[in-house]
Amino acid sequence: MDATGGGRIRFERRRLPAAGRGRADRLPAMSQPASRPAHDHDHGPAVGLLPVEEARERILAAIQPLAPIELPLQEAIGCVVAGDTVSQVHLPEFSSSAMDGYAVRSHDVAGATSEEPVTLRVVGLARIGRRPDATVGGGEAVRIDTGAPIPAGSDCVVPIEYTEAAGERVRVRRSFPEGRNVRPGGEDVRAGQVLVPAGRRLSGAELGLLALSGHPQVLAHPRPRVIVMSTGDELVEPWQRPAFGQVRDANAFTIFGGLRDAGAVPYLAGIVRDEPEALKETILSHLVQADSFVSSGGVSAGERDVVKRAFFRRGDVEFFRVAMQPGMPQAFGMIEGKPYFGLPGNPVSVFVSFEVFVRPALMKMMGRKDLYRPEITARLASDISGPKDRMQFARVLVKRGRDGWVAESTGGGSSNLVSTVARANGLAMIPAGQETAPAGSDVRVMVFRSMES
Ligand code: AMP
Ligand code: MG
Repeated sequence: MDATGGGRIRFERRRLPAAGRGRADRLPAMSQPASRPAHDHDHGPAVGLLPVEEARERILAAIQPLAPIELPLQEAIGCVVAGDTVSQVHLPEFSSSAMDGYAVRSHDVAGATSEEPVTLRVVGLARIGRRPDATVGGGEAVRIDTGAPIPAGSDCVVPIEYTEAAGERVRVRRSFPEGRNVRPGGEDVRAGQVLVPAGRRLSGAELGLLALSGHPQVLAHPRPRVIVMSTGDELVEPWQRPAFGQVRDANAFTIFGGLRDAGAVPYLAGIVRDEPEALKETILSHLVQADSFVSSGGVSAGERDVVKRAFFRRGDVEFFRVAMQPGMPQAFGMIEGKPYFGLPGNPVSVFVSFEVFVRPALMKMMGRKDLYRPEITARLASDISGPKDRMQFARVLVKRGRDGWVAESTGGGSSNLVSTVARANGLAMIPAGQETAPAGSDVRVMVFRSMES
């Protein structure tokens, strides 16, 4: 494979569109003048830092919803439908009885009382799931079950408790008006009516409605299949015993969980050595079945950073530095029209950058309109400090306090402290320009898991 073109992977020449400005220009390049330290993870000067919002908008501007396909109902759950589904039938499809009893003509029983019952001739049976074996004429009744179709000629149902069977006849002891105890056909939905409108995200209730009206499949945006790769010569699988200095691959699993939670379909492609060819080979081997790629590690400014060396021709994948902590170095681009996210290597950076960039992009691919996690305002239980030039995403545990939400830090700010994420349910966003958010102040918190669990 040839990194400079002519290889088997064709890369999009298109640059990332610039959000809001309608022209394509490059994100501030990660490679800054040579004075920068070789391994620049979360340190470094503020030069060329891209505000978080802008980085996200640029990524989202490059993302399109996946083309809709017909999905069987079980697969469509949670997916967004791409067109109006119109009912071909009335619902219910036929009028049925709401009671066990007798289908009669209301006119015939108009004068019935217990003192002077009306006697009708029983001419047939209306069983559930069957066409009634008789119609109802004047002075006639048909024995009917709950849910059975109303026989032609009748217009109401006398419940069994107001009747007395007498051989071929039945005595009715009460009058019932037209329509009583009848569930009319078409009462719920009329033929031609929209059952589920385009843009609706399917829940069980809509699946039931589609099934009832004879739609075993539905046109919807599918779930993106996402290939997950962990780059790093130091990595081993979690079931392997690391030699001294080796590290078990955490990121693949963090990303796997995030993908599942977002509704995407993860595929773990394993550990990729810090060799550009190895990374390209892995991508190539999964290209046909992938809708998107997420890698972690190797996007920093270092000589050995593999993603940097692999990509590919200039412009296929952009490397940029975002004004955030953690997660400053990021890579994003399109490979054969499929979004590629190159996240940093530190596990906390991975979590935060997934939440901030990858998840909203996946939501957009799935046709969702609600791209973002819910945000709340909470009161800080203690000071949180971070770098002044970048927005800090501090891991917090949000709890219900006496007068509103209270956010408690789950630990230090370093981006290698994985347990601080595991204990948290939110990311407190301390804006750039503020070095310390003091205890007692209000912060915005992005909530990423149920606050009860
Ligand atoms: P990198 O950006 O590739 O230099 O990685 C930054 C830091 O994150 C290094 O300390 C790596 O060992 C660590 N790291 C990278 N990938 C993983 C991973 N998949 N699981 C756990 N730690 C990782
Ligand atoms: Mg690495």
